[in-house]
Amino acid sequence: MGINNNHNSFNQQSGRANRSGSAESFLIPYAIDQQTGAVVRLPHDYLRTENDVHYDEAAHKGKLQCPDCEATVHFNKGNPSRGGDNLMGQSAHFHTNPGQTHKDECRVRSGQLAREDRDVQKIDSNKGFVINLNSFQRQDDLFGAFSKAARGPYMRGDDKRMHLLDKYRQEFSGMERISIRSVQDFADFLRTKSIARIRESVVVHRGHVIQWDNFLLFKNRREGLAEEDRDSRIKNFVKRLRPNQEIPCLIEIELKEGAWPKNTYQALCVKPEGVRDGFDPHTGRPNYILPRIYVENDMLRYEFSQAGRYLVLGYARRSDLPAHSPKNKSGNNMVFLNMRVDDHAQVAKGDILELARENRRRNSPKTQPDPAPTPLT
Ligand SMILES: [Zn+2]
Repeated sequence: MGINNNHNSFNQQSGRANRSGSAESFLIPYAIDQQTGAVVRLPHDYLRTENDVHYDEAAHKGKLQCPDCEATVHFNKGNPSRGGDNLMGQSAHFHTNPGQTHKDECRVRSGQLAREDRDVQKIDSNKGFVINLNSFQRQDDLFGAFSKAARGPYMRGDDKRMHLLDKYRQEFSGMERISIRSVQDFADFLRTKSIARIRESVVVHRGHVIQWDNFLLFKNRREGLAEEDRDSRIKNFVKRLRPNQEIPCLIEIELKEGAWPKNTYQALCVKPEGVRDGFDPHTGRPNYILPRIYVENDMLRYEFSQAGRYLVLGYARRSDLPAHSPKNKSGNNMVFLNMRVDDHAQVAKGDILELARENRRRNSPKTQPDPAPTPLT
């Protein structure tokens, strides 16, 4: 077999390296595909995330590098019949190519990368996902990312890399990590993953760890639910949010008619219907929560031009306008939930109930009739 012949020389080198204790014997827990950036795992290893793939000779031979430095590496299938782990170099592993060494600061040298990888390697298929919101950044993130992240689950170590804090290492143990870059990715997630696991998921972003049901905001349209319970997610979200604090969320809004700017110079403000949140005990008048989506990017001015349901990913910022405020002509207490949309990745036409239906069709045995639709609660 091709691998065997080609890598005999590497085996021999590995043996020498081990005896001399040189850099070549470091344990490389996984490799990176130089072309796609995918995490390449050994054939019997667990796949931790959707970015992980198993080693495939046709796809990966000659294209791999160390996960923590630029040293090129290759797959060595080893020789399990000769005692597996008991003899170094006998079980399948990744190995540096001839003449390649890990950089001094590479975490493969210290074994740290292997330890971290071991900590997250066992994915429990009953547990939820740790969703990293990637590439969903605003200008101020670029400046504030470090200080904010330091307060959250990740902390920058002396090696200048981000590490999961021990507290969260425990909490996220067994949870599959995935990266999400757009609202479309979320729609695919909702369409395809086990609903039981989705419910157990957390979203990690800018140092925040957000429980799934604090993140996905929508009107629950489940049959038989009392009217005042349909908007409980958005009500709870607002209760937790301090004025002017910003928290990421994915919200479903419904537009009875399309929205677009009335003239060229105007920014678009999308105003979906508000949510009634109890009554003022003194006046007896209803309190309202009013989502407002601001679109200043000209490229997105027609993004909301059709009636229907949309999914919007962004930071929600709370702004209160109490009934007694001189600016408030309505006589009702109002809380605005302001979001800004700057990027196509933040908006998609979408219907949570439809995604849940599709999910159930996809994940139910084929012989059963279509189950009754229930939202992703
Ligand atoms: Zn390295």
